[in-house]
Amino acid sequence: MKISNRIKALAESQSLQMAARCQELRQQGVDVVSMSLGEPDFPTPAHIKQAVKDAVDADFSHYGQVPGLLSLREAIAGDRYTANDVIVSVGAKQAICHAVMALINPGDEVVIPTPCWVSYSEMVKLAEGTSVFVPTTYDTDYKLTAKQLEAAITPKTKLLILCSPNNPTGSVYSHQELVDLVAVLVRHPQVYVISDEIYNRIIYTGHHESLAQFSELSDRLILIDGVSKAYAMTGYRVGWMICKDKEVVAACKKLQSQEITCATMVAQKAAEAAVRGSQDCVEQMRRIFEQRRDLMVTLAREIPGIHFEVPEGAFYLFPDVSEYYGKGHIHNSNDMAEYLLNDAHVAVVSGSAFGEDNCIRLSYATSEDNIREAMHRIRISLAKLM
Ligand code: PLP
Repeated sequence: MKISNRIKALAESQSLQMAARCQELRQQGVDVVSMSLGEPDFPTPAHIKQAVKDAVDADFSHYGQVPGLLSLREAIAGDRYTANDVIVSVGAKQAICHAVMALINPGDEVVIPTPCWVSYSEMVKLAEGTSVFVPTTYDTDYKLTAKQLEAAITPKTKLLILCSPNNPTGSVYSHQELVDLVAVLVRHPQVYVISDEIYNRIIYTGHHESLAQFSELSDRLILIDGVSKAYAMTGYRVGWMICKDKEVVAACKKLQSQEITCATMVAQKAAEAAVRGSQDCVEQMRRIFEQRRDLMVTLAREIPGIHFEVPEGAFYLFPDVSEYYGKGHIHNSNDMAEYLLNDAHVAVVSGSAFGEDNCIRLSYATSEDNIREAMHRIRISLAKLM
């Protein structure tokens, strides 16, 4: 066999697979409404586009420093951190992957509450670590409790990966919930934490509670953020990690230097314009997401047999559709996603991709017209099953 076992063991991203299926059907002339994509549908704000054009003209076309442009890292570091704590990578995805690769040895355990973003466990696999999935439920708003965390930690635990606001559930940890988790982590000083806060500016609860506020954790926290979601810049591929542990930063820099040298320079200039510029564009998009969230929730409540937590952040609804299992040919979330694609012509992502087979994920990063149309079609298709 040509292909390494390491890569053979990796799963394909189900959300990208669904996007490809959607594209195929559209090419056959089928009018598919996509609720599967995890990216804002807005254009990148004008001042950011101007910055990238200026960067091209100013010849930001050579290799840069491995951890990223100093001026960008200074902007990211703010008051709490220094530029030396920041590494800019090709998307938050790469920053997370580097952190996992830097920390995990074969056999190390990584605690991952589920439902979770599709890529964490695949990254752990690449590092030959062991993912310890901790299922969270509808009853706890899909959030990890202190008790669950305590029970999941063993002498082999090296890392916890937490995501708030969460993809796919839209759950947001409150200050008290984080206090409770930190109290557990303080008792286990060997456990590092990757806090994926990529959706921190898309929040409907007032303000974001970051794990960065807990000084007890600061020497083993790896904070993840980026420009993809907040500034509608998914294709620019700029994200970063912030970490005060110099050894971890040095390890990630070493990996980055051998792998990519540095993130694309003109894209970094665009990211700098995003972070340093007016944040009004972020608030405008956030408000629109909030209106769409409200519309989704209203329309979803009209569909019998599904239940969900009202999302408090990000742009996903994660309804439990398991009441329909056993009806027609539907036995799991993959069947449900396939049925909705073929019958309603609505693309969704099956919950199994996120470790929760009772649910499907609907992205509302799309127009209100698309949301209305998709929810109408889903309602009709599900009614046929009853
Ligand atoms: N973390 C979560 C929870 C995400 O949903 C995503 C993208 O879908 C990422 C990280 C990666 O973001 P980026 O585009 O910066 O690589």
